Amino acid sequence: MTLTDTHAHLDFEEFDNDRELTIKRSSEAGVSYIINVGADLESSRKSLELAKKYDNIFASSGLHPHEAQALTDQAKNEFERLVKEPKVVAVGEVGLDFHRNVSPQKDQETTLRFFISLARRCSKPLIIHTREAFPRMFDILNEEFLKGPLRGAFHCFSGSMRDLELAIKMGFYISVGGPVTYPKSEALRKIVGEIPDSRFLIETDSPYLAPQSHRGKRNEPSYLVEAAEEFARIRNVTIEDIARITTLNAGNLFGIPGADRSPRFIYKIRNSVYLNITNECTNNCTFCLRFTDPTVKGYNLKLDREPTADELVKGVLAESGKIDEVVFCGYGEPLIRFDVVKEVASALKAKGYRIRIDTNGHANLVHHRNILPELKGIVDAICVSLNAQDVVTYDELCRPKPKGNVYEAVKDFIREAKLWIPKVEATALDLPQVDRENTRRVAEGELGVRIRWRKYNEVG
Ligand code: SF4
Repeated sequence: MTLTDTHAHLDFEEFDNDRELTIKRSSEAGVSYIINVGADLESSRKSLELAKKYDNIFASSGLHPHEAQALTDQAKNEFERLVKEPKVVAVGEVGLDFHRNVSPQKDQETTLRFFISLARRCSKPLIIHTREAFPRMFDILNEEFLKGPLRGAFHCFSGSMRDLELAIKMGFYISVGGPVTYPKSEALRKIVGEIPDSRFLIETDSPYLAPQSHRGKRNEPSYLVEAAEEFARIRNVTIEDIARITTLNAGNLFGIPGADRSPRFIYKIRNSVYLNITNECTNNCTFCLRFTDPTVKGYNLKLDREPTADELVKGVLAESGKIDEVVFCGYGEPLIRFDVVKEVASALKAKGYRIRIDTNGHANLVHHRNILPELKGIVDAICVSLNAQDVVTYDELCRPKPKGNVYEAVKDFIREAKLWIPKVEATALDLPQVDRENTRRVAEGELGVRIRWRKYNEVG
């Protein structure tokens, strides 16, 4: 497990007596990478020193809004120099803090705009501190976007659901830490459940904001594990899933290493093993992410080649830990490779695995025969993407490649599947074009199968 703490202040005096040991404890706990964040000129310099001393520590340079008035011309020059250092991966923390207004708001805004401009000139992301100032922050960011692109993360996110939506729409990442473990943080836990996988970062803000079991005491990066366990619970995944997803995001935003970006034809999420056996598909869905962001829960599903049946069977047998089911899924239509599905499902079923197929339901059209009897006894469940209430909506959303009324063919596939496979489900996405009531009526009333709704943009 590789966790990345994207916000710590290990240069602070709280660590003067045991800095080295703290860093060692973090690595031992699985927190393999740390961004040490500058809050003023001195801490930005010290952050860089730490980053130069430890391979797994990276630095950022910035001025906390409380220190906004310290932005002299000399300080500007020094920040310009620091930010260009290779191990400085971000500009921050900078932002607005209207909670106590330690610096006048006008100065906070002037300083923030300087750092935004610096981040843009150096092509480095921002680490944004915002407390009780979200509306003004969004106004400033909207104005700044007119001058050119911006990237960054909202650190220790404390905004509302609406603020989250706006930040995501603007392309920002959202970072959350120990407060998620506090009994009264119900609103934050709801926010955490809504952050898209691709924008989620985690942090400690050490030495501040220790998680519940150390609350009120000094925080340190090794305690990130406690928050990560809570994130896993909220998002219904494992801590390993949280580590993989957030370390990949930290790599994408800050360019730090740690993520495994190799193409995966076998991947595990929760207690299910998924088989990504092809990137080909007979649909070309408007919502499909396979050509834009082929990442699912931190795994890269863009194949450089299609795996053989032998590789798939051996790969599943080599997986460790509890396995509830093996699922043919991935970014592509598995039943295009029907012979491989049959061979792998037979071999794994013989070993006692439960087998499921997620499919677009085109297989009988593609193979010009009824393939479903051949799955009898080797497949336990099949989920078919019904996706719409009628053929017009289906064609508009899924843009099927086969000719004719493909929607009717999918419905026939579901009817036929019920004769050969013990559990058959239809799925659909909660898109505005989809009429939920009528789609449910088709699945449950007409076809007699349960419908499972999937969130748009949430895969895996
Ligand atoms: S059926 Fe799935 S893999 Fe195929 S285009 Fe649609 S979303 Fe993508």
